[in-house]
Amino acid sequence: MTTPPARRSWIARLLRGLGALVLLLALALALRAAYAFRDRSPGYSVRIAIDGAAARAEPRPLRAGFAREKINPDLGDPARPVYLAGFSQNRRATAIHDDLQAIAWVVDDGHTRVGCVALDAIGLFHDDVVAIRRRLAPELGLTYAIVATTHNHSTPDLMGLWGPHPLRSGVDPAYREQVLATSARVLAAAVAALQPARLAVHEIPVAPEGLVADTRPPLVYDNDLRALHFTAADGGRSLGTVVSWGNHPETPWSRSTEITSDFCGFLRTALEEGLVEGGEVLVPGVGGIACFINGAVGGLMTTHPSVTVRDPLTDRLLRTPSHEKSRAVGRQLAARLLPRLRRPAEAAVAYAPLAVHARTVELPVDNPNFLLAPVLGLMDRGHSRWGHVRSEIAALRLGEAVLLCVPGEVYPEIVNGGVENLPGADFPGALAEVPPWRELLPGRVKFVLGLANDEVGYIIPRTQWDRKPPHVRGTAKPEYGEVNSLGPETAPLLHAAVRELAAAPGIADR
Ligand SMILES: [Zn+2]
Repeated sequence: MTTPPARRSWIARLLRGLGALVLLLALALALRAAYAFRDRSPGYSVRIAIDGAAARAEPRPLRAGFAREKINPDLGDPARPVYLAGFSQNRRATAIHDDLQAIAWVVDDGHTRVGCVALDAIGLFHDDVVAIRRRLAPELGLTYAIVATTHNHSTPDLMGLWGPHPLRSGVDPAYREQVLATSARVLAAAVAALQPARLAVHEIPVAPEGLVADTRPPLVYDNDLRALHFTAADGGRSLGTVVSWGNHPETPWSRSTEITSDFCGFLRTALEEGLVEGGEVLVPGVGGIACFINGAVGGLMTTHPSVTVRDPLTDRLLRTPSHEKSRAVGRQLAARLLPRLRRPAEAAVAYAPLAVHARTVELPVDNPNFLLAPVLGLMDRGHSRWGHVRSEIAALRLGEAVLLCVPGEVYPEIVNGGVENLPGADFPGALAEVPPWRELLPGRVKFVLGLANDEVGYIIPRTQWDRKPPHVRGTAKPEYGEVNSLGPETAPLLHAAVRELAAAPGIADR
């Protein structure tokens, strides 16, 4: 028996109308999500396996080239504010204190050529790295190009999370384009600058006290300095240095609205020009072009406002965040490096076989924020397949140095040891990230380069993942970290990849 239309209650009509509306909204959301997560680099996959055997069988002289170019944003248009990355939304840049740089270096063992560009920037997603690589002319002969960011918190937003309000991206497409174009250009310039070189590899122990704090236990740092120093084969003048150390460049802290390269820039300048105070050169520099690449900065390495830094030239103690404090950090590091770099490099080599192993990795996205942000138009990052981002990991060997390229902010306990498994954590059980990477990796000096070829956020040991109560340290709220991580599987997956890379032909000791 059917009910005549006239007798249908208004409620039934309303419900049908609402049902249609919900269906339409769901469809719109699904379309929006499909668009937000569309693969920006369909089919893109990296699988490089160069063992360096050709270079060992037929050694050819090492060559190196350095180049740099500024990547300052334009602050001249009040209608287009520049939103600074890190900390909170709507932090508008008011001035440029010192230049942001894109610094490239290229090394060639006569058989294989690899380039790297390090940017004074918060972070670049892998899709942007692919976009830079696609701009590199084949004639440059680059087998592999690394794009690393220093994770500087006084630079324009390039990740979309720090716009005028939480629902609006802070990325200016024109600035993004400027950074991508400059990165490709400066890599080409470094290729053009290639010349016969010698390489010395340095590792200098540094105590974290007075430089960097760890804001989340366990207290493990990435505090030692590592450097590649390239000098001209003919005459020995410095071509450039590549320095790595693990710390968030956020020294001026959250209230600063001035663009600065932070301690990274002060360190670079001091290495090139020397330690200069009151117009007097107290320790001469080595010249060339200095490049800084960050290390393991997760969990969380920072020159926190609670850290007092002593300026080694003025002896002033600096606690309040300031550019002077950033400079003191840079000077502290340079004061340790310069004596080593200035010593006649009897250990410098003219031959250094280059091995390169790089591979695409897919990482699951478990973090609801990271699933919501692209739908809201904040993060411009595609999925390689549903719920997974495409990322990349690589290991390079250059003579006695090994360089591991890690696509985010890895917790130093994964790198140096000390992963915890305490009651209260969300995933109890066996430690997933042992042995530590610096134990797995061969070579005399082991660089772990953070935010290389991607910024996936924090890479947290699975057994330290702690979102649900009770919490490991009895706190009411979870500790900071997970909110900016893809999920608990990121670290175990990357650890498995590092284990393979460490044993790859040409990387592993022979
Ligand atoms: Zn960070």
